[in-house]
Amino acid sequence: MTLRQSTSLSSLSSLSRDNYSPNSHYTRNNLLPGQWKSRSIDRNMEGDLPEDNIQRHSSQSNKNKSERGSGNKKKTKKKHLITANLSGTRYEVVRQMVEKLGYSVSKEDDWGAYLIWNDSFVSFDRISDLKSYQRMNHFPGMGEITRKDSLARNILRLQKVFPNEYDFIPKTWILPSDYNLLLGHARELKSKKKQRTFIVKPSNGAQGHGISLYRNAEKIMQSEHTIVQEYIDKPLLLDGFKFDLRVYVLVTSCDPLRIFLLNDGLVRLCTERYIPPNDSNVGRLYMHLTNYSINKHSETYEKSMGVDTGSKRSIQYLNEYLRRNHHDVNKLWTDISEMIVKTMIAAEPHVLHAYRMCRPGQSTAGDSVCFEILGFDFMVDRKCRPWLIEINRSPSFGTDEKIDYDIKSALVEDTLKLLNIKISDKRRNLANQKAEAQKRLFRTTKKGDGSDMTELQRKQQNIAKKKEELKEQLNKVRKATTREDYENRNLGRFRRIFPSDDRLRQERYCNLMTTAFATMLSGRNNNMQKEIERTYNNRLREEDILDQIEQCEADEKDGRLFPSHRPPRAPKPLTSMPENLPTVSNDDEDDSDDDSIIKRPHSRSRPQSSHHRSNSEKTQNQRPGSNTSLQRSRSLTRVVGNNKTTSRNGLDENVLSNIVRDKEDELTRKTLTALNEMRIKFPGKSDSEADNLLDRLHENMKFHKPRIANYWLVKLDSIKRRKVIDIVRSNVRAVLQRIWKCSDIDSLRIYRIFSRVFNRLLWSHGQGLWNCFASIGNTWETIFSKSSDSINEYELYCCRRIVQLCKDCLLIVYQFATEAKSAPQSNSDTEQDSQPPNLQRNGYGYVTSRDKPPASWNPQTFSQRYSKLYQNKVEGMT
Ligand code: ADP
Repeated sequence: MTLRQSTSLSSLSSLSRDNYSPNSHYTRNNLLPGQWKSRSIDRNMEGDLPEDNIQRHSSQSNKNKSERGSGNKKKTKKKHLITANLSGTRYEVVRQMVEKLGYSVSKEDDWGAYLIWNDSFVSFDRISDLKSYQRMNHFPGMGEITRKDSLARNILRLQKVFPNEYDFIPKTWILPSDYNLLLGHARELKSKKKQRTFIVKPSNGAQGHGISLYRNAEKIMQSEHTIVQEYIDKPLLLDGFKFDLRVYVLVTSCDPLRIFLLNDGLVRLCTERYIPPNDSNVGRLYMHLTNYSINKHSETYEKSMGVDTGSKRSIQYLNEYLRRNHHDVNKLWTDISEMIVKTMIAAEPHVLHAYRMCRPGQSTAGDSVCFEILGFDFMVDRKCRPWLIEINRSPSFGTDEKIDYDIKSALVEDTLKLLNIKISDKRRNLANQKAEAQKRLFRTTKKGDGSDMTELQRKQQNIAKKKEELKEQLNKVRKATTREDYENRNLGRFRRIFPSDDRLRQERYCNLMTTAFATMLSGRNNNMQKEIERTYNNRLREEDILDQIEQCEADEKDGRLFPSHRPPRAPKPLTSMPENLPTVSNDDEDDSDDDSIIKRPHSRSRPQSSHHRSNSEKTQNQRPGSNTSLQRSRSLTRVVGNNKTTSRNGLDENVLSNIVRDKEDELTRKTLTALNEMRIKFPGKSDSEADNLLDRLHENMKFHKPRIANYWLVKLDSIKRRKVIDIVRSNVRAVLQRIWKCSDIDSLRIYRIFSRVFNRLLWSHGQGLWNCFASIGNTWETIFSKSSDSINEYELYCCRRIVQLCKDCLLIVYQFATEAKSAPQSNSDTEQDSQPPNLQRNGYGYVTSRDKPPASWNPQTFSQRYSKLYQNKVEGMT
């Protein structure tokens, strides 16, 4: 049974074209803030002000400006203003907000203006020509989500990989290519005796032009460039009318991506009561299409007179309405903001590619020259589930009703504030250009000198290069922090939805982004993938980079000059290993070096060595605060973070921060106790056996030292070394999770501190941990001496305990590996002489062969194997 009806709505929808006319009454004449209360809507149905009112306002503001400067004419002339070229926009509200912020509107041909605002998209060339202090309100490549067919293509591509994440557009077919799929779907529906309505839209259409509804998909023409969608036939209704949401989204940068969502928007209602589509009503566009450009021509169109009436309402009003009707508004907006981010992620590979083509070499640390306000249109179905319908890259800033003015003026004003355009940007741009030119010059003069360089000079150059890169990274991180601080203080009515503050969500987004790039680059995305991870997932912290810079400097000083990219292949010379081992002593009082301060717990049940004295004992002996060098604020030579606390409920900030600090101190003490109780397990051995084994290793360290060094510094590659440290790290995380009752461990200050210690131990291909075996093994503590982060003594004890655990862990992994290696040859008498005598004497005779592993032995796998065993053991413990 085939149903008739394929009524075209295009003839009626063409009525709306005047929306784009520059002479349109509602785009030229606008309200001034506060004007609505004093004017009668009846007198002027469009709600506009007479044009001369605006002119008067502009000339008044100009007059004020000139009056202000009249005292010193010369000064006024010289005074620079942020200039805005608005010749490309017909919207008064943009001009008004620009003036409100004190910018000066420049002439049509001022292409050097700080701000250039265009209603329509501009060419790539124009974007390429922009100076880095300028801002233009469009991104190249955004057409990938603002054209209907491209949006569908990009979403459907990711839908194949993530069917559950990208399920927010109605079923869509892109014609002509998907025509057969569409027919197949229609036939399937027919065979199941199901009836669906389809909506057909021109691929590059707008304002409802050329849209038709079909009750029978087989009647849809194949040849046209259109998209076909399943019609959402059970929409949520407002007073019996179908509606859609216009949600405003600001993208301030694509490199890296930053997205903001306005906390208000428009709800646009149809003007004829909704009846689900049937053969006789599919042509009634006032019932099925929510476009303002169509419905404003309806006789029943109602101008919004208050918050709860009219054909246009605010999203704030809708939220209230939904709450009253027991819908989950929070979920609705979480869903919508996720959909926006996911859509932008689908666009990002294209936008970033186009942007980088236009702006080759532009540093990601700098401000983006492009920004864009996008109008996302959503429909909501009866289950309050949002559906993305389309995205507009030139949403209307027409303000013929008060509600338009209220929302759009806020949108433009807050956008301009977030852009943070500064008069000094131009000067800085010139200075940067100069510096770049000098750098280039310097590079060319240096060329050709490489052949004369000695090995040492080349290494020095490598280190200098690495340092330069790190400084650049540091610059980026600092700029990003400053930008974020600025954003947080100037969000206005926006909220940032990407990057997300929710770590898990951000990780999910990062995963989607990686796949989006992989899909676009057909798998050739190795570098891109790393870049995405670096940018969005593992955001480098200032301290980490500063640590690395310090390490470079230390390398420079000490002459530890490794090639910058590869760890050395050959065994490291013994000079790079600790000369002295911690003195094995029974003297409990001897805490002159780091190792004697860090004690292993349960020392009473084991032979007492200074090495094994309990940390908690030490803590008891030393009252907090007694060691001034360890108190908070060890050094503040770095840029101090902006850790302002604001009291929300009127409590004195000092009191509040004292309470927080006390609580933190208490949790830190608990963490220390838990760390002291933590043991490194040896697979298949009891705790005391493992302890004994560690004692033996320490006692015979002279013998083991070169072997452990060889194992740690040479045999293990960086991944394996990290795995050894991760054995401790993952358990420390578990402890923190338990004690601090926090799922986002990475956001904890204490974990950030620990993280720096772990990084330090992995420093210089594992040299960091190896240095801890030396008599001056506490040099890692210098990472805190130049840090902006203060560290209190309990935190320091925790760090010391962690270092101790990592040392134990290395010893046990080494021992495990050695045993595994020698097990098949336990009867062999090769190299018996090289065994430490006491190992043999004490029955540890399984260490038989160290230098010639059996053929079956693979040094690459044992730490992995060990870590698995260890993880299994330790899980129940922590
Ligand atoms: P245009 O860019 O021409 O406005 P849209 O895709 O926004 O095209 O569609 C116009 C209107 O048609 C929407 O505002 C909405 O009311 C209605 N519409 C579009 N797609 C659907 C759909 N899949 N289901 C129900 N209504 C739809």
